[in-house]
Amino acid sequence: MSSSGQPIVSLRNVDKTFESGTVALNDVNLDVREGEFVSLLGPSGCGKSTVLRIISGLSPATAGSVVWPAGEARLGFVFQEPTLMPWADVAANVRLPIKLGHKQDSGAVANALGRVRLSAFARNYPRELSGGMKMRVSIARALVTKPSLVLADEPTGNLDTHTSLEVMALFQELNDAGTTLLIVTHEQDIAQYARRIVVMRDGRVLRDDRVANRRVARADLAAVATEPEPA
Ligand code: ADP
Repeated sequence: MSSSGQPIVSLRNVDKTFESGTVALNDVNLDVREGEFVSLLGPSGCGKSTVLRIISGLSPATAGSVVWPAGEARLGFVFQEPTLMPWADVAANVRLPIKLGHKQDSGAVANALGRVRLSAFARNYPRELSGGMKMRVSIARALVTKPSLVLADEPTGNLDTHTSLEVMALFQELNDAGTTLLIVTHEQDIAQYARRIVVMRDGRVLRDDRVANRRVARADLAAVATEPEPA
């Protein structure tokens, strides 16, 4: 998918200063276009989460504007922790956003579970799943409302290398199928699976580059799996 899609959201000269006086964002300009897969990369404290909070409307910008050219978009959220309800099965966890929005399911849960390849686990409980599977459930929950933009805050922050690659492989597949993604990470290795990397430092956008020779997480995963055990 090309990056020539319409902008879903445009941040224009966005500043964010907290009451404490901390300047979290300083003149940030950022477009996320339909079909893109963008990594927001930078060290802890550089303002990545603040960008996500401003896009999601949880925190207002101090100055500048947040524009939704095609009208306000439906958002999906993936967090560092899968944050599943332990007392509810996989299908009920994925259904939660639909239920909260008083919408009808009409196959959306089954569809979302299929996209993360967990159809066979709809009736299982979170405690019966591996860490990677729980993340996939939380990704299905983010997809169930058919969002036009999925925001993921350090989705691999608590995962081992193998599971991180699985999650990135899934994000690449979802993006190949048309899902627009903006993920926040402080890991260069993870960022490079996106199609575009926006590097932040001290509340500013330092670079904004297309990824040349993008790595394919599925291939890297296969390479890790076939590496001989260290002697
Ligand atoms: P990142 O996600 O890159 O780690 P954040 O966006 O969370 O960075 O934070 C950017 C800066 O804003 C940091 O200096 C942080 O301490 C500060 N900050 C974040 N949230 C608040 C808040 N609610 N009040 C005051 N300062 C904050």
